[in-house]
Amino acid sequence: MKKLCIVFCLMTDLAISQNIASCKERFDKYLNFRGSVSSYMRFEKDVMYLMGPGGKTELALYEEEIPALAALFEFGSQKKQVELISKKGLRRLSKRELDSLVKDNPSPITVKKEKGQMPLKGFKIALDPGHFATSLGEAFVEKKYLYFLPAGSALQDSVKIFESQLTFNTASLVKAMLEAQGATVFLSRDKSDFTSFNCTYSDWMRRHKGRTLDSLVKIGSLSPTKGNSLLKSNEVDFFWNFFRDFDLANRAAKINVFHPQVTAIIHYNVDEKNVPWTKHTNKNFSMAFIPGAFTSDNMARTEGKLSFLRLLVSNQLNRSASLAEQTVANFHKYLDIDIAKTCDATYLRDNCISTNCAGVYCRNLALCRKINSPLVYGESLYQDNEKESHLLMKSDIDLYGIKTNERLNKVAISYYEALMNFFEIK
Ligand SMILES: [Zn+2]
Repeated sequence: MKKLCIVFCLMTDLAISQNIASCKERFDKYLNFRGSVSSYMRFEKDVMYLMGPGGKTELALYEEEIPALAALFEFGSQKKQVELISKKGLRRLSKRELDSLVKDNPSPITVKKEKGQMPLKGFKIALDPGHFATSLGEAFVEKKYLYFLPAGSALQDSVKIFESQLTFNTASLVKAMLEAQGATVFLSRDKSDFTSFNCTYSDWMRRHKGRTLDSLVKIGSLSPTKGNSLLKSNEVDFFWNFFRDFDLANRAAKINVFHPQVTAIIHYNVDEKNVPWTKHTNKNFSMAFIPGAFTSDNMARTEGKLSFLRLLVSNQLNRSASLAEQTVANFHKYLDIDIAKTCDATYLRDNCISTNCAGVYCRNLALCRKINSPLVYGESLYQDNEKESHLLMKSDIDLYGIKTNERLNKVAISYYEALMNFFEIK
């Protein structure tokens, strides 16, 4: 029997990324945090300019170049991107140059779909379960845990929740659900107590700390003085002064090597006003972050500038916004939690750009800048909420061989359905 072959093009809204007006809209709506990067861009009718220090025009991006440049910034290597920028300057690329840019940087986002096969066959999805600590010792370093007795009730069970355990179990559930539909799913770490280096923080400290610092000093990424002071620092200081960012960069690098069509970063939130989280809160909100909200310090380094250009010329931001909107809507629908408004948290008010999608905020987080795919960074609920903490500690159901509870299952379903919707599979 002749097989029916359909080529699925996932760039469903390609048109929105192809002109100066749509780039300007992304810049105004998502990228420019309170005018912080206004001086880095100048928009005209059929050209936009990236500006350098002192108002010097560094790079011209002409309207007809945008699709080819989007291919380069999404699918080309960093080396190729840097080479093109320095060679191009204000010059307009010829038709031949544009054609070869598209040809040399092919989209991995084309899936051959055959009749009768599973709906996500050929699709690649990355999941990043946040954090790593699942013991009180490591959690003390990372500060992503709850451990307390409910006030005035010594008879009640204590609250003991490790965010890393919640995120890992959720990611494992989402992975199983997506794989059941044929997807290839990548997790940024292999166990609930592993960092992205696939060992615990304590193991990494014991086996890799000295060697890693040495090699960073050798290649000039760290000064010898800084390397030496980090080597001598204790595990808490080392985490906050080095390892946290190092692990995040490694998560993004691993995900980018996988070349996913989409990424979900999974976290659980707390009430920021409930610090130091030794009691319950009655608040509970759902929200999600997407890239954007750039500030001038992001533009000082090549890596930040390349992320900015990718988000400006491609449609990743638009696709992230609709994925995040769907994810938050699902949190609200399945978990019955209110969607956070700007006034519900100071970081939403002070550090984010609110989008016109309910509960979706542009936040300038390392993973949001570094991961090269449409993404949602989900914060489904507050772990320290008086009702949630008890429900989250349960492990009374077994799904896909994973001991879990109904609350985590609902969070997982929220991500899963949003991702299915992203691929337009209902
Ligand atoms: Zn978190």
